[in-house]
Amino acid sequence: MSETLVDIESIRAQFPILQREVNGKPLIYFDNGATSQKPQSVINAINHYYEYENSNIHRGVHTLSQEATSAYEEVRKKVQKFINAEHDHEIIFTSGTTGGINLVASSFGENLIRKGDEILITAMEHHSNIVPWQMLCERKGAHLKVVPISKEGELDLEEYERLIGPKTELISLVHVSNSLGTINPIKKMIDIAHAQNIPVLIDGAQAIHHTPVDVQELDCDFYVFSAHKMYGPTGVGVLYGKEELLNDMAPYQGGGDMIKNVTFEKTIYNDLPHKFEAGTPNIAGGIGLGAAIDFINSIGYDFIIQHEAELSRFATSQLRDIKGLRFIGTAKERAGLVSFVLDGIHPYDTGVILDKLGLALRTGHHCTQPVMTFFEVPGTVRASFAVYNTKQEVARLVEGIDRVKRMF
Ligand code: PLP
Repeated sequence: MSETLVDIESIRAQFPILQREVNGKPLIYFDNGATSQKPQSVINAINHYYEYENSNIHRGVHTLSQEATSAYEEVRKKVQKFINAEHDHEIIFTSGTTGGINLVASSFGENLIRKGDEILITAMEHHSNIVPWQMLCERKGAHLKVVPISKEGELDLEEYERLIGPKTELISLVHVSNSLGTINPIKKMIDIAHAQNIPVLIDGAQAIHHTPVDVQELDCDFYVFSAHKMYGPTGVGVLYGKEELLNDMAPYQGGGDMIKNVTFEKTIYNDLPHKFEAGTPNIAGGIGLGAAIDFINSIGYDFIIQHEAELSRFATSQLRDIKGLRFIGTAKERAGLVSFVLDGIHPYDTGVILDKLGLALRTGHHCTQPVMTFFEVPGTVRASFAVYNTKQEVARLVEGIDRVKRMF
């Protein structure tokens, strides 16, 4: 226990924002599923770039441009190692998870999907993994099929297999649900899809900071995530894709950097990864992502998994006793979050009162409206944990909920 406390205190000390107060109370930040806080090392890496290296990349012969280019490209290699991709050019920098999914829906989907084809997703997807496919289906006259969930918030795997048919051309699955916390058995689901030669995209937005990801072991065709949910900056993310698929795909956007040669008659596109990275990217963000990976590596997934599971267990055991509280999402395999509703109290009101107590929680549909429809709730209250959260903070949440209940 004391060792854990020492570790947590030294981790917390790295996050300047955790020192601040909100409404006169020490900040307790439980909105990590929306975006995590940033350690000083990430802030320093971004500042260092702007203070010492600021320059556009890939085009300059001068020192600043070369330094910025190598700092940015080093991160690509770091990401490759982090998710164990075979090649660094399989790492495409994007604006985030949403950007990555839209890229695949446009560049891969546009070529692949024909009238009458089917794209399979699940009932627990974030809107980012629904709408791009829906738009593609509308453009092509294809159909979106949905794997249902149980009342515990688990996928029905029998139905998953049943829904895969001769017209299924693509499957897109969330690794960890942001509103239910469910960890899906993606390896098994990818194997089932591949037995029918169907490519699979994994939305790893809520997984990458909770669990190590090995894209070669998973054998997924695409894996997407955002830096800002893994202690990095906003506006940057990663699309991993298998080399042969990325090579066959048309560019997503046209512009600088994605070309080898341009004439008015014809443009020769650049090689991977630049083919998919038109225009000046978020250079500082990319460098910040590198520092975020260093931060996660410095702590190690063993600790992260054990600590977040402990917080989740503790929160569940404490909240369970509160009368009128119902958990939304009780799957056996869950990541570090709890999502719940209180009888007769709107999640929004709960969120506002908790904020007065310095507690930052997310309330609402969490960009998963179909999940809310399934559970027949307007929204939930969600506490999502990060490596700097503590049991004492969870205890404060329980007191806060008690206060909310007494006020209504
Ligand atoms: N997918 C999941 C599961 C998410 O939780 C989120 C964000 O909450 C997204 C996709 C979208 O991520 P971003 O807004 O960083 O693109």
